[in-house]
Amino acid sequence: MESVLVVTEQFEGNLRRVSYELLGVARKLAEAIPAEVVALVGPRALQNVVPELGSYGAHKVVQFAGAPESESLAMMAEALAQVLGELRPACVLVPGTVRGQELAGRLAARTGSPAASGVLDVSYRDGALVVCRPLYGGKVLATVKLHGKPAILTARPNTFAPAEGEPRSPEVVTFPWVSPARQAEVVEFRKTEGGRPELTEADVIVAGGRGVGGAENFRVIEELADALGAAVGASRAAVDAGWRPQSEQVGQTGKVVSPRLYIACGISGSVQHWAGISSAKCVVGINKDPQAPIFSRADYGIVGDLFEIVPELTRQIRSLKGRD
Ligand SMILES: Cc1cc2nc3c(=O)[nH]c(=O)nc-3n(C[C@H](O)[C@H](O)[C@H](O)COP(=O)(O)OP(=O)(O)OC[C@H]3O[C@@H](n4cnc5c(N)ncnc54)[C@H](O)[C@@H]3O)c2cc1C
Repeated sequence: MESVLVVTEQFEGNLRRVSYELLGVARKLAEAIPAEVVALVGPRALQNVVPELGSYGAHKVVQFAGAPESESLAMMAEALAQVLGELRPACVLVPGTVRGQELAGRLAARTGSPAASGVLDVSYRDGALVVCRPLYGGKVLATVKLHGKPAILTARPNTFAPAEGEPRSPEVVTFPWVSPARQAEVVEFRKTEGGRPELTEADVIVAGGRGVGGAENFRVIEELADALGAAVGASRAAVDAGWRPQSEQVGQTGKVVSPRLYIACGISGSVQHWAGISSAKCVVGINKDPQAPIFSRADYGIVGDLFEIVPELTRQIRSLKGRD
């Protein structure tokens, strides 16, 4: 039987939400093809994720036996290529995270497969996969038909909604870990500081730009973010000035994000910044210049001084949430 393979991603023993989002896409594709949904868990996955993967639609769970303590993406791609050789899936869905993007690229190169990254929609028509994906920093949407199998696709976190299905107990299939000697090794994962959500997975992001005017002024941005349970983002100007860490940069040379709500404070809205937020569901611009380019594409615009507007928003949200 045909299959659709989802490469899940985990951190500290927990599957990342994007894994469930991709299982929802896989279920839709599997119905259209028709095919079974197979979830691949990384070498260090915990057994307790298996029933959960079943309830999100996996018919089968593939795991590795004998994997080393720390695997690099090059080794993972090699091991995965062996699985693809055996399973011959119609499609492989990979999280569009920093690691997933690299893994998908390596896998496509290794197997000579057609690939598309950052897909916004996937369907199966006339025996081929058809995807919609943004190009040129989100300026155009391309419809792309992928010939050959397996087609390797990545989708950014928050692009699709996870959907629980009928509970089922997936069959567990174990593959031996076959990978060449390590060329590079992941020595350590270090979490960035602060208890806020990860930028690429956040539902809500409050971002600040040059208009914030200094590192210490970012307190107003952080307070609004904390009132909303949001992540903090920054424009390159704010990062280059040393006000925020590079890990918070959003845009063409920073992170590409897809939150439900993106609040841009003191950010002019350059094309390079928009390249990182074009798939945000709702963008709110706060800028004192009514001619700022952010207003030409934002869903809502507030013209005014961010140092008046942002603290007022924080107050209102806190009082709505009963924290004042
Ligand atoms: C190859 C390349 C890659 C790039 N990659 C990125 C990238 O990944 N991400 C990115 O962000 N940029 C990137 N840039 C830079 C980009 O072109 C812009 O320079 C940058 O986005 C500008 O940042 P900004 O909007 O914070 O600053 P500015 O453009 O200076 O805008 C500041 C805004 O703040 C407003 N403002 C000032 N004071 C207040 C106040 N008190 N209240 C409200 N509003 C106020 C101003 O009206 C202005 O609109 C890249 C550029 C190049 C060439």
